[in-house]
Amino acid sequence: MAGLEEYTPIVGEGVIAELRLLGERLSGKRVLNINSTRVGGGVAEILNRLIPLLREVGVDARWEVIRGTQEFFDLTKRMHNALHGKPDTFTAQDREIYNQATEENLSALDLSSDIVFVHDPQPAGLVRARRDLGNKWIWRCHIDVSAPAPGAWEFIAPTVEKYDLAVFSAPQFSRELPLPEVLIAPSIDPLSDKNRELRESEVEEVLQRIGVRSDKPIVTQVSRFDRFKDPVGVIDAFRLARERVDCQLILVGGGATDDPEGAQVLKEVRDRAADDADIHVVDLPPTSNIEINAIQRASTVVIQKSLKEGFGLTVSEALWKGKPVIAGAVGGIPLQITHKYSGILTHTVEGTAFWIKMLLSAPEFAARLGENGREHVRNNFLLTRHMRDYMLGFLYLDTAGDSVVEL
Ligand code: UDP
Repeated sequence: MAGLEEYTPIVGEGVIAELRLLGERLSGKRVLNINSTRVGGGVAEILNRLIPLLREVGVDARWEVIRGTQEFFDLTKRMHNALHGKPDTFTAQDREIYNQATEENLSALDLSSDIVFVHDPQPAGLVRARRDLGNKWIWRCHIDVSAPAPGAWEFIAPTVEKYDLAVFSAPQFSRELPLPEVLIAPSIDPLSDKNRELRESEVEEVLQRIGVRSDKPIVTQVSRFDRFKDPVGVIDAFRLARERVDCQLILVGGGATDDPEGAQVLKEVRDRAADDADIHVVDLPPTSNIEINAIQRASTVVIQKSLKEGFGLTVSEALWKGKPVIAGAVGGIPLQITHKYSGILTHTVEGTAFWIKMLLSAPEFAARLGENGREHVRNNFLLTRHMRDYMLGFLYLDTAGDSVVEL
């Protein structure tokens, strides 16, 4: 696994030196991360990389995973959906299930550390150990909790309020809380299989495997088959654009097999694509990182036509590969794209079609958007920036009360 020095050619010596300096300042601090899964999902992906890097600079970082019954995880899945706005009702019995799992994990886990860094709602209840341990607790919320279903936020609010610091991914995802809050955007790892440089032959090999020829421009959207990602709107926009410029479309998604709604959306997409030879609908297994990397790299233009979005990591992934991106102006996407400078923001099918035509006909402008986008991602959305922000958070707690922290 890549060490910190391997990031130097990407972000420069200054960034790495700053991380080492923060590490010295935090040397030996015990930081225990807790989430609910070791594999799958963005949180586990980030922790897998961050823990070794934090240890490399001297932070005594550990990572524990809570356990729970099926009943508990069914409840936390419902909580997750309700925090996103899906109506639900939480009963006293639900509260009992949550408390029971919390108690069991409190007995099983060694929570002694200087800072306990808890990710998302599932393990949040562990904070009841704070009073006995007298250490500092951070709650890192990776989801958008700005418009929860009635009752959902109330279910966890009393727990969250016991923390010393809350971390959200973007201003519009946060809530007002009676404790300090900081905003830390997610990030991509430039050295992971999803994002590292690929050889031309690796890209070609993937295109062959999915049956796409590189003899005309490729327009791509990478997304779960979800209505909020508007894959049908992408097909409509693509067809409007193709009336003027010859091109082909790849819609890459995955996870539809174990998600009934995903399977339905995939069917709608296939119906809309019908037997159009220029439209390639590709359903990949969740581990297809190199495939996604290759498809993004093979693309002339990348679309992310979301109608509703969390942060929208696929946008940073494509920008990092220097691609011109056309994306819906929703969720975290405007943080990643400044319209007509580092990409294109759109609101409609027609607007998306217009910009596909435009970018395919103006390759120099398209290339400039891609270059600006890549620099924006380099400065704001790489793993090293994420690591720095976390360490600043640890330092803030370690020195709480001081208004200036001497490095
Ligand atoms: N992704 C993937 N396989 C797919 C579709 C998406 O690995 O079939 C990845 C994609 O590359 C990105 C993540 O899943 O890293 C999706 O994150 P994003 O924030 O864009 O959207 P979300 O799915 O979380 O709404």
